[in-house]
This record gives sequence, C-alpha cells and structure tokens, in this order.
Amino acid sequence: MSSSSETSMVDSFDRGVPSKCVCGAGVTIFTSRTQENPGRPFFRCLTKRDAKSWTNKRDGHMFKWVEDAVYEEVQDALPKVGAMANEIVKTKSEVIALNAQKRTCDEFSTKHNIDEFSTKQNIDEFRQKQKKPS
Ligand SMILES: [Zn+2]
Repeated sequence: MSSSSETSMVDSFDRGVPSKCVCGAGVTIFTSRTQENPGRPFFRCLTKRDAKSWTNKRDGHMFKWVEDAVYEEVQDALPKVGAMANEIVKTKSEVIALNAQKRTCDEFSTKHNIDEFSTKQNIDEFRQKQKKPS
C-alpha cells in the first residue's frame, strides 16, 4: 500500500545484475563496438538482439553496463557479508558456551557414574510417571 515499499521494490528490481527486462523478456550480454566504449560489456533486452532495431539505448528496454551492475551487486552484498560475519562471531561464542556446559554435564555424569543410556532411561521413566495420573 505505502509508496515507500513500492519504491524499494522498484529499486531492488533495478539494482544489480538484471535477470529480466521491464517488458518481461530476458536479458543477455553484448559487447559495445562504439568508439566511446570499445569492448565494454553491457546487459540488453533480448528483444533488442538486433542492433538495427535500436533507436537509442534509453528506449525503455534493459540497457545496463555490466560494470555498473556488478558494482551494485557488491555494494548491496557488503552489508549482508558484514551481518553474516557478526552472526558467525555470535554463533562461535554460543558454541564455546555450549561446549563448556557439555563438559560440566559430562563431568557430573562421570562423577555420579551416570552413562548416556541410564540418563535416557531415567528421563523416559520420569516422563512415564508424569503421564500417569496419580
Ligand atoms: Zn525489453
């Protein structure tokens, strides 16, 4: 409903490596042969495959320099990579804390001569007792 969410949808559609033209057709990579941009690759709408059909590159169909698209991809990915790095640091410290807890449990089990099997049995018996109406 809000215009801001529509705008961001359009923005994300326009950003990065394009997969489709606004007309619905796919896109493909061409290489520029112009004097200003010799050998420069760009994305172009598949319906504009034949260069003779081009009036100008702002004809409403997809035209985007590959380097611009790749730059946007990297720009958009960097904050995500940063968030993932933070997530990894957080997860690592959680694993360290859990391993410490496990060591404590293992030490407790060894000290009280409880093996994994009897612990599971104890838990099952406890659950059985809980289920039964007293
Ligand atoms: Zn198109």
